[in-house]
Amino acid sequence: MAFDLLLTNARLIDSEALTDIAVQGGRIAAIAPGLPREAGEILDVGGCLVSPGFIETHIHLDKSGIIGRCGCEPARNPHGAMERVSAVKHSFTVEDVNARARATLEKSISHGTTIMRTHCEVDPKVGMRGFQGVKALVDAYAWAIDLEICVMPQDGMLDNPGTEELMIEALKSGATVIGAAPNYDRDRHGQIRRVFELAVEFDVDVDMHLDSGTNPHDMDVILVCELAERHGWQGRCAIGHGTKLASATPERFLEVTHRMAQAGVALTVLPATDLFLMGRDQTENVRRGVVDGVAMLRAGALANLSTNNVQNPFTPFGDAQLIRMANLLANVTQRGDAADLRMVWDMFTAHSARLLRRRDYGLAVGNPADMVVVDAPDPVQALRDIAPVLYGFKRGRRSFTRQRAELHPPA
Ligand SMILES: [Zn+2]
Repeated sequence: MAFDLLLTNARLIDSEALTDIAVQGGRIAAIAPGLPREAGEILDVGGCLVSPGFIETHIHLDKSGIIGRCGCEPARNPHGAMERVSAVKHSFTVEDVNARARATLEKSISHGTTIMRTHCEVDPKVGMRGFQGVKALVDAYAWAIDLEICVMPQDGMLDNPGTEELMIEALKSGATVIGAAPNYDRDRHGQIRRVFELAVEFDVDVDMHLDSGTNPHDMDVILVCELAERHGWQGRCAIGHGTKLASATPERFLEVTHRMAQAGVALTVLPATDLFLMGRDQTENVRRGVVDGVAMLRAGALANLSTNNVQNPFTPFGDAQLIRMANLLANVTQRGDAADLRMVWDMFTAHSARLLRRRDYGLAVGNPADMVVVDAPDPVQALRDIAPVLYGFKRGRRSFTRQRAELHPPA
């Protein structure tokens, strides 16, 4: 056999021509039309888009799928979601976390995600149980997805004694990224500085929950930019949410965006959670609070998008489908033109790869054959349709198949 796998009649991003993609030894061996029909598996994808696998850089597997045990929302309190999760953390066992995280991870895989960074919280209430429940999935699902863990103090760190010790324990036992949630400590900047010290000590990238709120002149990301430069962490820092930017004037938006670009700090937009939680202080004209990632990209910063929460008090919905999340972001930020949608596609593919510093990402000869077949001819149509992903491949091995719906008209 010439190849292990051959996809025929594929459409690549930004190309209308049909081509073939050959895989050998888990890597892309050739991309050209008319390759020899000799392979262990030959799949005619019928003109569908073949994209690099999708990347989720910000999701919470450990607390996904708990909405059923969290009761009703007591009030429109901006901190209510964190409090409702915190109130049920005692019920998390390793087995419970593992089962819920597994279910969410399998949804992610089945919608085309092949690389994931999951945030995982530790604190005296949950101990290491969330971390252990998720960590067991890293090897168990390596056949379908590269999974890395960002350890974070969701309930605060400086004001929550015992949390820092657990963060360090996680960093010593498999967490490869460190996160933060400074809104839950009285000294926000103190938490950010301490997290940076730990990042340097353990030589790990930083990915913080930051700047949820409405005042664009009180943004912690400015400190993150300073610390990134001071520690040489440019290109190794991301923040999630950043909703204060959604309340900025165009001038302030550009000022902050340029600062982030200069310091190599990326923004991950989390549209579902931001839409669900923002504007809790309002009774009418409730603000959207979702940052226009396309505008950030046009201004030269790195922006991507992710799912964040799935079926918990922060976001009581979700199926970990990144094409759907991208459609939501485009819709709410009023980005409907083809050029804009093409940029949104990069926000869960190429730009997410940049954020994770994956240099071997993309459909090119020699790269790992992480690919998905999308039921649309191109990224723009896929986002307009919320097109399903029909097949996924991890290092050249098929990881899932999704059947097209079939109509049954009367004979
Ligand atoms: Zn998050």
